[in-house]
Amino acid sequence: MASLIPARDDLGVRSGYHSPQVDVAVRLNTNESPFPPPAGWVNELRDAIASLAFERYPERGASELRAALAELHGVRADQVFCANGSNEVLQTLLLAYGGPGRRAAVFEPTYALHSLIARHTATEVAVGPRRPDFTLDLDAVAAAPADITFVCSPNNPTGRAEPREVVEKVLELAPGLVVVDEAYGQFSPWSALTLVDDDDGVLVVRTFSKTWAMAGVRLGYLVGPAALVAELDRVVLPYHLSVLTQAAGRLALKYRPEMEARVATIVEERGRLAAALADLPVESWPSDANFILFRPVKRNGAEVWQALVDRSVLVRDCGSWPGLDGCLRVTVGTPDENGAFLAALKEVLA
Ligand code: PMP
Repeated sequence: MASLIPARDDLGVRSGYHSPQVDVAVRLNTNESPFPPPAGWVNELRDAIASLAFERYPERGASELRAALAELHGVRADQVFCANGSNEVLQTLLLAYGGPGRRAAVFEPTYALHSLIARHTATEVAVGPRRPDFTLDLDAVAAAPADITFVCSPNNPTGRAEPREVVEKVLELAPGLVVVDEAYGQFSPWSALTLVDDDDGVLVVRTFSKTWAMAGVRLGYLVGPAALVAELDRVVLPYHLSVLTQAAGRLALKYRPEMEARVATIVEERGRLAAALADLPVESWPSDANFILFRPVKRNGAEVWQALVDRSVLVRDCGSWPGLDGCLRVTVGTPDENGAFLAALKEVLA
């Protein structure tokens, strides 16, 4: 007789990664773009929908989208792999290159999904520390040789981008693949995209969820060696990228100037937020991304989080992440949202 057997017992932390979706006026908890996509993109997508063949499976290779991304980054289309968000890119990568007998190295605190997806794919996880300022510790990298080494730059949730010299050193130290997660790459002073080469093990993961203002579409990609992309194409589910997603991504790339203008506004607002936080009783860390990590010095972080929610402002409570006791992370929002956040925080900390 059929019975409800337990799920695998090696799936790791089940309470998971998810940020509570609380109904508030000001949502600064998941690092999305605070601005909607350009109106021109919405109009073009609406027109494109009329001619999409919804009754047919999508083109498996998403070749037009790949070609457009290749052009954007000055690489070849066979060096680009797309999936439903960069999380699915990472999952596909771990299906192909992780698994039993394979090891992934992460340096905490960092993006929780790297180790979570590794565990879901039965990949062993080696956890190394960061330095007190949360930058990568090359000794820790050397001490954790792995099949897949994760570098998150800028690092979520701490905010700093790793300097080029550090990433180059990681490439020397790591014996296997090096995944540079650049979900926030457009805010960073440099990109590891220039290090990608068919003969090396470095690959860069990017997303449309942040600066492209398309978190709801679910589209991410990696740029890496062609041979690795071919392996990912073998394990990913057939027709995984819908006609709608492919069209949305292709059309978005026509709006690069609008995306860059958004990045400039967010960087300016980030400066304003950082300056305001410096005047409050909080410790805060420099950011090369669209969020800022901070820790109230006199109040408990979770209490401050709740007091902000009570004022209809939602930030991320990072207190349970390794090494981030009492820390909160605020996404840079619109000028009005940032103003509302600062006013609420001042009131809570007064
Ligand atoms: N990498 C990092 C570092 C992230 O912060 C996020 C989103 N929180 C992702 C990947 C996943 O983004 P998505 O799946 O929306 O592309």
